[in-house]
This record gives sequence, structure tokens and C-alpha cells, in this order.
Amino acid sequence: MPYFPVIGLEVHCQLATKTKLFCGCEIEVNTEPNKRVCPGCLGLPGTLPVPNKEAVKLAIKLGLALNCEIDTHALWTRKNYFYPDLPKGYQITQTGAIPAHDHPICKKGYIEITSENGEKKRIGINRIHIEEDAGKLVHDFSPENSHFDANRCGTPLCEIVTEPDIRSPEDAVLVLQKIKQILEYTGVSNANMENGNMRCDGNISIRKSEDAPFGTRAEIKNLNSFSNLQKALEAEMALQAVTLDSGKEVEQCTKRYDANHNKTIVIRSKEDSHDYKYFPDPDLLRLVIDKSLIDSIRKSLPELPDLRRSRFESDFGLNAYDAQVLTADKEISDWFDLASKTCKNPKLLANWVTSELMRELKEMEGGISTLKFKAEDLAEMVNLIENNTISGKIGKTVFAEMLATGKDPNTIIKEKGLVQITDTAAIEAIVRKAIEENPGQWQEFKSGKAQLRGFFVGQIMKNSGGKANPSIVNRMLDELI
Ligand SMILES: [Zn+2]
Repeated sequence: MPYFPVIGLEVHCQLATKTKLFCGCEIEVNTEPNKRVCPGCLGLPGTLPVPNKEAVKLAIKLGLALNCEIDTHALWTRKNYFYPDLPKGYQITQTGAIPAHDHPICKKGYIEITSENGEKKRIGINRIHIEEDAGKLVHDFSPENSHFDANRCGTPLCEIVTEPDIRSPEDAVLVLQKIKQILEYTGVSNANMENGNMRCDGNISIRKSEDAPFGTRAEIKNLNSFSNLQKALEAEMALQAVTLDSGKEVEQCTKRYDANHNKTIVIRSKEDSHDYKYFPDPDLLRLVIDKSLIDSIRKSLPELPDLRRSRFESDFGLNAYDAQVLTADKEISDWFDLASKTCKNPKLLANWVTSELMRELKEMEGGISTLKFKAEDLAEMVNLIENNTISGKIGKTVFAEMLATGKDPNTIIKEKGLVQITDTAAIEAIVRKAIEENPGQWQEFKSGKAQLRGFFVGQIMKNSGGKANPSIVNRMLDELI
């Protein structure tokens, strides 16, 4: 029997601040364990938290980018639980056990995704709240002991909670990609999933029809890649379907995904918010936010991916797919945008970026910022193709040389003598030579064997060192025939 999934995501992202959420400790990734700590983030008695204004501003920026309402009186609360990497015994967050205590900084937003078939869907954002991260337990340092690193204690996070509006694992991936993209465009977070800047939990239940009540859900924790999110949701869907088909009930639980065996594993049974004994943090006042601060952050919002995509389509005549590819990654998108400013044919430039350049970038270690040549150089190379100085084929040679040496295209063309021959007299001489050298084939071609055109064009291009303008060559063959 087919089932229909209902999916919601909880995304944790590390805010790109210099210091922690409630103390002045610097956030540094590659430092020795327990070097970035103070009495505050270790939870020693007598210390008091002071909210980091920069973290609050970034959370507001994220909320505005996700079309949320901003709560001007957000409330800090404590989530109480014991865990060895949580020295205070509680986490400061913005979730309340009762509505009067539940004032996350942002709520009621939405994002739009576009499915592969072009269908646009709106996914609700239930809330975004700010909270502090816990430390880290290190288990693989020695076989007998576990070690504790407090450097991450108190690092600011935003938790983005979507509504259960997602209807397939594929769409869940699109939602997470969109959130990551917005985090990168706004600079709110580095959103790097590999180093844990961004982590995702997936909630999923299934039901027998699209208008049936929601089923019992499972929450799968800490999915650290797009493919793991999709595979974990698919595996859990299949498991719940088998459970229901055998007449049993799905039990609410928290799970993790075992990628090696492609299955979800229960780590805790049902838990409810009252288990955490949330209450307002007595050490912190309400986070009163001035409307003028919200307005100034709204004004500072950069061009977001959806807007940029439609600008690329309308200004450069790109199709939806190319515009999507060129805006997926902010760095590449900025690079293309810069190059387009001096390029006479942005559409041709887009082709070069999405095909040749992106293929090279996949092979390279660093991102587009580590390229040896500048964005303007590729724009100039496309201009040289556009004005017939070089052919597209020669362009590939020039491009390879730019990649290897970082030289600009004009220098490369000059050094290598790659300028396209457009002088008709010079080309005619090469064409006539090819005819003289191959009289038999020429007779056949003249008497109608059209496929010999390729042979002659090949000979002529070879004799010209690839520099003859192909359209002039073809026109000349037509004339001489
Ligand atoms: Zn500290």
C-alpha cells in the first residue's frame, strides 16, 4: 500500500560571530582543546551571561531573509538536562514550556522551493530561535577514556524549524539547500555541513492519503549531508510502512541514521518538552529589540538567491536551469556577476562558466577564489570569441592556459600566435591548397558527396593551425563548389 510522507526539518546553524553568545571568548575552529574558555562558558558559580549583540543582529537578518516576523521582546529560557558536555546542566535557548514563555526571536516565515518539474512550493518556517551550543566529547583520542573539549560551549546557534509542509525526501533536500543558500548569501553562517557549522534533524511520519491526519513521527538527528538527509528519510519511510502494513503502530522516538547500513536506529524513546523543565532564565532580561534596528538590518539585506536568479534570467536571457546553476553557490554567483559587467555576451559567458569552469572547479581543491585568473579575464576571452578574434575552439586552448598560468587572454593569444584568420585572401589560399592536394575527394564532393565537407574543413583547419574562421571556410567551400 502506498503511503504519503509528512516531513519537517530542524536546522541548526552556527552564527558567524567572532565571539561566543554570552561571554567574550573567541570562536576559533582550529585551536587546542579547552583554550577558548572562561568562567562564563564553563558555567562556574558567580558568572552572569551578557547577550552578544552581533549574534542577535544575525538572527534578525536570517529571520527577515526567511520572511519571518521579529519578536521585539524575545525571552531567554533554560533547557535543563544533564550531559557530560554541558557543564552548566542547562542550555540557554528561546523555547518556553507555556505560550507566555515561548518567545523565539523570529516566527511565521516561509521559503519557496522549485521542484524539478518547475512546480513552486511554499514551505512555512515555524520559528527561529537563538541558543548556545554544548561542548564536545572526544571518544577516539584514547581507547580507555573519553575526553571533553569545552571550546564549543556557548557558541551561538540559530535553530530554524520548518512547518511539516514537506511532502517528499527530494523536497526536504531542496528546502535544506535553500536554507543553506540563504545562510551563505546573508553571511549569517558559513553553513558548512562537513565541519558541523550546519546540522539538520528530519521529522517524518507517513499516512495513507494526502488528507488523512498526521501519523506518529520519528525524529532523525544530526544528518550531516544532503544525501544522508534524503537516504535517512527514505529508509525511515520504508520502515514505518512495513510497521503499519504488519498491523503495528509507529512509536514516537528519536533516531540516528547509520549510513553504512542505510537504516535508522532508535537512540531515545518518546520525549516531550516538559522533560526539559523549561523556564525563563532568571539571569537574563527580555531581549528588547528596537524597531529602528530591524529596519536598518532590513535595508542591509543583500540580493537574495531567488531575486538574483530572476535577474540573471531577465538581464542575461538565461534559461531557468542555467540561472539556477549560476546562483546555487554564492561565491560562483558573485564571480559570474562581476565577470558579466565587462562581458559583451553574458549568455556565452554563462555557458563557459557552467560547462568548462565548473568542470575544472570540481577537480580543484579550493573554491573559485583560488583560481589564478580573474573574473574579468574570462569576460575578455568571451569578448574575443564574440568579435571573432579567436574561435570557440581556440578559446579552449586559451582557457586551459589561463587556468594553468593565470595570464590574461590577450597575452596568451599574442604569445602563442592564436589570433583567428579572418582575412579571406589568406583563407582562400589555404582552401585552394587543400583542394589541390585532394583532387579525387574534391571531385566526389562536387558531384554531391556532402559528407566530404567535414573532411575538407578538417584539412583546412589543420593547415591553418586551427586558426581559420570556420564560418568563412564553409562559405568559401560553397562558393568554390
Ligand atoms: Zn567564555
